[in-house]
Amino acid sequence: MRNLNHVSLYAFTARAIHSQVAIIGGGTAGLNVSAQLVRDGHYIPQQIRVFEPYKMHAYQTGWTLVGGGMCKADQTMKPMEKVLPKNVCLSDCPVVKIDPEQNTIVTMDGQKYTYDQLIVASGVQRDYASIKGALEQLNNPEAPVGSIYYYRYAQKIDKMIREFEGGKLIFSEPPTKCEGIPSNIVFLTHERLSARNVKCDFHVYKANDSIFGIPKYSEILGELAHEKGLHCHLKKRLIEVQDHKVIFEDVETKQQYTSDYDFLHIVPPQKPAAFIAESGLGDSDGYVNVHPNTLQHVRYANVWALGDCSSLPTSKTAAAVMAQTPILIKNLIRTWKMKLPPLPEYEGYTSCPVYTSNKKVLLAEFKYNKQLDETFPVFQSSDSKLMYLMKKHFFPFAYWQLMVRGLWGGRDGIRLFKGV
Ligand SMILES: Cc1cc2nc3c(=O)[nH]c(=O)nc-3n(C[C@H](O)[C@H](O)[C@H](O)COP(=O)(O)OP(=O)(O)OC[C@H]3O[C@@H](n4cnc5c(N)ncnc54)[C@H](O)[C@@H]3O)c2cc1C
Repeated sequence: MRNLNHVSLYAFTARAIHSQVAIIGGGTAGLNVSAQLVRDGHYIPQQIRVFEPYKMHAYQTGWTLVGGGMCKADQTMKPMEKVLPKNVCLSDCPVVKIDPEQNTIVTMDGQKYTYDQLIVASGVQRDYASIKGALEQLNNPEAPVGSIYYYRYAQKIDKMIREFEGGKLIFSEPPTKCEGIPSNIVFLTHERLSARNVKCDFHVYKANDSIFGIPKYSEILGELAHEKGLHCHLKKRLIEVQDHKVIFEDVETKQQYTSDYDFLHIVPPQKPAAFIAESGLGDSDGYVNVHPNTLQHVRYANVWALGDCSSLPTSKTAAAVMAQTPILIKNLIRTWKMKLPPLPEYEGYTSCPVYTSNKKVLLAEFKYNKQLDETFPVFQSSDSKLMYLMKKHFFPFAYWQLMVRGLWGGRDGIRLFKGV
């Protein structure tokens, strides 16, 4: 009660704080945009404000490796103040409301902010709670249930694999916007247990109707799954988790199936933050409704979005963020400072690297309409050792050493600013 009084008094008395550019979210997208805006000299850092409630920035891609026993959780996180460009303003209270008509943002403590340009980069929320009983089992250290989508549950998966002595393993996937990520932990678990000669029965339950949305990669992964004796069940959605028992539902017929398990990996359903829809910025699913090629909001010319929270109809990955960032910045500068129309340059590029073992990776790269867009076609006709070396060693280096300095251009390599 005392807190609430404090909040409303603060809201009443505090003056709005203005920034030329407001960025909601200091995850991969928010960090990359702020770093490139500063590096390219478009804004002095003090004119940019990032809203991010978490003290630590997470390289979520690394959580796959945590679950796979290939890296420690603390290697995937760094304090926000160490990665955010120097002198960029940071507000550590979550945004609860935007008024795009008045160019204002309100944070949970009632503070009001105004902006000239707004970039929404608030990612997605992982909705474990929508699966009945899932959180109870995930939070029970004795229950053999984990998930690479949160670092603590990824640590649990690693421990589960190390201690597993045989039985039935289930991997569940809801409808997902990146099908590569869940496959990683299936193959890595298989590899580690095979190396120990543990007797296993692997079952993958996917809500989607194919192993991977792009036929070429679906075929390659399907063959690998077959070779490794993994059983795939399509169009099945996990709806309930109990002690050593799960309930799935067929996404079409709604018929329910139960199964026992000795090991369960859950991919959580994902959804955008509620403030997006509540502020009138969302599409019918609540994602920030931006033009698929310019990244500009369909109604508000000074609102932009990229990354997982955006409506961009492509697989949601950090690789996609790297391709989206320079286009968003170019269009923001063109429309605001040069009074020119935005350029429709983003074609949906994304990439999903899939560990098929702890020595090889299949690098899937594509763009809108399921078109392949491969950088190294010779190495992408199957899983490859070279792609593994890039994924395991080079990408984390590029993220922590180049991306946070605004120097990483994704597959364009190290970026040298060439102007708008
Ligand atoms: C296990 C796993 C493995 C992955 N593997 C790969 C991979 O191999 N390759 C790849 O390219 N991608 C991979 N990804 C995907 C990649 O991590 C995401 O696509 C990327 O992080 C998206 O960046 P983002 O900034 O949009 O979202 P995030 O990085 O999630 O950042 C969003 C930020 O917004 C903040 N936020 C949320 N709500 C608010 C609010 N109300 N106010 C203020 N701030 C808010 C959050 O705290 C968060 O820090 C993986 C993801 C996971 C979970």
